[in-house]
Amino acid sequence: MIENLYKADEANSWRKNAGTDPADQELGERVYTSRLIGQNPDLLMHGGGNTSVKLRRPDLFGNLQRVLHVKGSGWDLDTIEAPGLPGVWLDPLMKLRNLDRLSDFDMVNVQRANLLDSGSPNPSVETLLHAFLPHKYVDHTHATPFLVLANLPNATEICREIFGDRLGIVPYIMPGFGLAKKAAEVFEENPGVEGLLLLQHGHFTFGETAQESYDRIVAHTNEVAAYFGMNELTAIGVRKPADKLEILPALRGAIANISAGRDDPMPVFDLRNGPDVMEFFSRADIDALSLRGMASPDHVLRTKGCPLVLRTDDLAGGPARLKEKVEEFARTYRAYFDRQSAQADEPKKILSTDPKHAWIEGIGVIGMGANAKAASVAADLAEQNLRVRAIGEDAGGFYPLGEKDQFDCEYWSLEQAKLGKNTPPPFQGKVVMITGGAGAIGLATAKAFARNGANVLLVDRDETALAEAGHSLGRWHGTHACDITEDGAADAAIHAAIQRFGGLDILVSNAGSATGGALLDLDDQAFRDAFELNFFAHKSFALSAARVMELQGRGGQILFNISKQAINPGRNMGAYGTPKAATMFLMRQLTLELAELGIRVNGVNADRIRSGLLTAGFIKERANARGVTTETYMAGNLLGREVEAVHVADAFVALAQMERTTGHVVTVDGGNTEAELR
Ligand code: ZN
Repeated sequence: MIENLYKADEANSWRKNAGTDPADQELGERVYTSRLIGQNPDLLMHGGGNTSVKLRRPDLFGNLQRVLHVKGSGWDLDTIEAPGLPGVWLDPLMKLRNLDRLSDFDMVNVQRANLLDSGSPNPSVETLLHAFLPHKYVDHTHATPFLVLANLPNATEICREIFGDRLGIVPYIMPGFGLAKKAAEVFEENPGVEGLLLLQHGHFTFGETAQESYDRIVAHTNEVAAYFGMNELTAIGVRKPADKLEILPALRGAIANISAGRDDPMPVFDLRNGPDVMEFFSRADIDALSLRGMASPDHVLRTKGCPLVLRTDDLAGGPARLKEKVEEFARTYRAYFDRQSAQADEPKKILSTDPKHAWIEGIGVIGMGANAKAASVAADLAEQNLRVRAIGEDAGGFYPLGEKDQFDCEYWSLEQAKLGKNTPPPFQGKVVMITGGAGAIGLATAKAFARNGANVLLVDRDETALAEAGHSLGRWHGTHACDITEDGAADAAIHAAIQRFGGLDILVSNAGSATGGALLDLDDQAFRDAFELNFFAHKSFALSAARVMELQGRGGQILFNISKQAINPGRNMGAYGTPKAATMFLMRQLTLELAELGIRVNGVNADRIRSGLLTAGFIKERANARGVTTETYMAGNLLGREVEAVHVADAFVALAQMERTTGHVVTVDGGNTEAELR
């Protein structure tokens, strides 16, 4: 049962906080119930839904006019705020109903031309449907139970059986002007209805108050769920630790190889393997179900119409079989495009032919995307679709949109117009692992890569600092706690990257720590420990990373944080400089050996950065010893300016973008003749 979360006092405080204007207050309550809907994955997922309110506001001449506030693109209902529901003058929209036809471009243009604030985002493509219904509040969702109902072959009869004549039934029409007109006609045939079932699409409710419309969304969805015996809520987003995932990096590479150029990024994966997902694979009709299509028209934009299906036999066939399966997917997709585009009214540009989600027997469901967010959206929809298909098929049949309707959505003119308009950030699709990720340099480097579109996995020993660092990066990144000097730590960390993102593109082997002391005084074990951290951990992480990069077959990068000490020894720094010098040689050796795999290996020599290694106390001690202030000490270089963690981060990012550079060390020390490489 979906819980009705509406609370009068909460609604009131949303109204109050919206200000003193009654129109703003109504919009405030609209925001509140929109969020209630958006926060429940059983009601709504990823843009699959929208809400609106009609109210009155004065125009520039002081005349009160009708205004529709409707969800704008780029906002999600779960976190929506008032600006996410842009206002549109309603009367000009109402006039459109007299037209026989209206192209999507004209529709979007009229909607934009009538915005109260010309800087608002585009109102939803379902705006006219909201406009043509007379009710003050209108809510629209693609709830899981409604998707089961909407895709049954006898959906109309079952809908009547559940709701009698309380719901109007709208035949499938692609979202836009045609659907808006049809929905309004269906409503007008029986103005007593509480809502609409949109066949092969979703559910609308309406009401005179926000509460009435929301109550209906929840009650109707529960009635449908009860009919199908869906007693438990959909458990979306379960990721369980799994082993034997080597298939994922190999699959990433195979997918990138079919359509992308040599240097184009691989997709990022999001693996879901909760009990509901794993149980689905015991069905005998998987292959048939995989070909039926997605449960709602907007899904195809994120998932394509069909998953890539890999059965146990395919997995046993190794990389060669994976390659075949991915190529077969691409061929099938191209044939679908050729078939459908030949019948389209206008020329269409083919999208990339790679899969956007996969069903992998024994492993789970994978969402795939240009970054972790897109992969997660595809995975959520893929999971919801498994449930809709299983329940729908057992309740009479899962018969979603046919191929032509699916094509019309996937190749919708407005989506086609967006193609090639955005330049992706330089590290989009790149998975970056950073050891010592919670430290000053590690975190600054993580932020620099994240800002440029990468998805980052931070590795660190300090769990508290790691959690905090991970939080500061945000939800599209990951963390993995371990002591990198332990046996097997590198393989486990790389496995964590595969589990979370499907593979690894760039390793920043950054963790390190200085042990001070003259060699004559230094304990042998302390010296050996320094080697474990400052040399052997670099070696094991680099080799584990290189093995995954080899599986992917698309090159990769390894970046070492070396040190000025590697070439310019400092007194009492032997236990740090010696392993760092070995690490610099390791960098050169790997450059030589990994080039044939397309893996570039580079390093950064930094000096005198405030960090866990160079603490405030240590800096003070050094400055005092030289009789200078800490500021003067920190700026003790040719440029006379302190070198900060962000400058080191910039060097890593720069090296990562230098496509034809390998075996190079960049110095970041503000200038120091003795430490120059030559
Ligand atoms: Zn919809």
